Amino acid sequence: MSMNLVTLLYLVASVCFIQALKGLSHPTTSIRGNIFGMTGMAIAVLTTVALIHGQARSLNLDFTTGIAWVLAAVVVGGGLGAFMANKVEMTKMPELVAFMHSMIGLAAVFIGVAAVAEPWAFGITAAPVAALVGAQTPDGAVLLDGFVRYAIPAGNRLELFLGAAIGAITFSGSVIAFGKLSGKYKFRLFQGAPVQFSGQHMLNLVLGLLTVALGLVFVFTESWPAFFAMLALAFVMGVLIIIPIGGADMPVVVSMLNSYSGWAAAGIGFSLNNAMLIVAGSLVGSSGAILSYIMCKAMNRSFFNVILGGFGGEAATTGGAAKEQRPVKTGSADDAAFVLGNAETVVIVPGYGLAVARAQHAVKELAAKLTEKGITVKYAIHPVAGRMPGHMNVLLAEAEVPYDQVFEMEDINGEFGQADVAIILGANDVVNPAAHTKGSPIYGMPILEAYKAKTVIVNKRSMAAGYAGLDNELFYMDKTMMVFGDAKKVVEDMGKAIE
Ligand code: NDP
Repeated sequence: MSMNLVTLLYLVASVCFIQALKGLSHPTTSIRGNIFGMTGMAIAVLTTVALIHGQARSLNLDFTTGIAWVLAAVVVGGGLGAFMANKVEMTKMPELVAFMHSMIGLAAVFIGVAAVAEPWAFGITAAPVAALVGAQTPDGAVLLDGFVRYAIPAGNRLELFLGAAIGAITFSGSVIAFGKLSGKYKFRLFQGAPVQFSGQHMLNLVLGLLTVALGLVFVFTESWPAFFAMLALAFVMGVLIIIPIGGADMPVVVSMLNSYSGWAAAGIGFSLNNAMLIVAGSLVGSSGAILSYIMCKAMNRSFFNVILGGFGGEAATTGGAAKEQRPVKTGSADDAAFVLGNAETVVIVPGYGLAVARAQHAVKELAAKLTEKGITVKYAIHPVAGRMPGHMNVLLAEAEVPYDQVFEMEDINGEFGQADVAIILGANDVVNPAAHTKGSPIYGMPILEAYKAKTVIVNKRSMAAGYAGLDNELFYMDKTMMVFGDAKKVVEDMGKAIE
């Protein structure tokens, strides 16, 4: 395959990736975005295999077995990915993403190690030439294996160091993030609560500096031991960076690791002189960084506040304290249905609890019944409602909720004042008026102003706090009716009562 054709195909794949990102930015275009992504990746993989095949032939090497291995890996990896993505529940999606990032990180490490071991096979140096065993290389070293090896250029060494180090941090960090998100494992480091100890940040700083120092030793001397010691430290650093962060902050971390995995791929792409890897890595790196920024902004937290950790732990401990014994007005699903049936405008606020209860279909049915009665129904979506960005949009899209009923926070907040009823389903922090109170841990976090509606119905299972571990004044307001129970059951009961 000619280099011009390869460049053209890589360009087509790059355009597909950009279209994929554009398509994924809205539920209506997300399927198209996914198709673009899959097409781009298929073109990229097949072109690269054809390119390597051509290069092997020009060197008179037999690459048939190599191709068989690559294709087998594509079938096994692709099949496993499709199986897992098909099986995964929406609330477990961040876990799956963390797992996939760990694989990208590990791939970057493997490629880095292989390229350092056999740089000629990656086109980084010329192939070694046979010489007498015991002869001296041009730089004076005595040959033991009978091959003159060419030095990896310093620029490539720097790229390999960066790519492999970021890959190692991404791998071990993602494994810890996966464990924390799954909450299934007893191992202490996989617990949702942050693992903190004194001097932790200093230790991270020292390890970081040591990793860079060893990397530079490799860059300047091409020392293998320095490269491996650097990799080992990077693996340890990945663990240490993630353990102090609480399980509930993991989606931000996963998005950050997503960004790292992109930069690792781009770094390796420079070493391998592969434009496709550079483009794809940069797209992943920058989109992950932008997403992390958006999430932090929506939680009114700084990136460093998340990275320095501890927030989820606060939530876990203060969560208990929030079970204050203050009177609240409670009602049944029938009572709530009565209120809803008499409203003219209803705003539905879905939260994490709705996702856990998988109540999206029941909500859609309830909304359809209200609409049939001539009631205007709108959904209000907070940017971090749930446990990952876009969580609610995806859930509602899955239940085929009409897009014109779904509104982002900034578009709906002005309407709560006129709404007869705001019905909050398994949401807590994203409607907590404490965000307007100075000194509150969520002070400044933009919220859905559901408390402004004429009547507020809140469905959750108990008075337990949400992710931020804070009590919610909204529950104690005179106009609020608490309907306790699992979101799916309560919403289904409301639907039956409306009928
Ligand atoms: P919250 O975690 O604040 O509240 C969810 C509520 O749902 C809980 O109070 C819980 O109360 C209730 N609940 C749980 N299960 C059920 C169920 N089966 N049926 C009914 N209710 C249930 O969620 P929000 O969506 O309001 O807020 C999201 C939080 O997550 C924010 O603090 C946000 O910053 C954070 N976050 C979000 C990220 C994102 O990207 N989306 C990323 C990182 C953090 P009870 O136990 O009483 O039922």
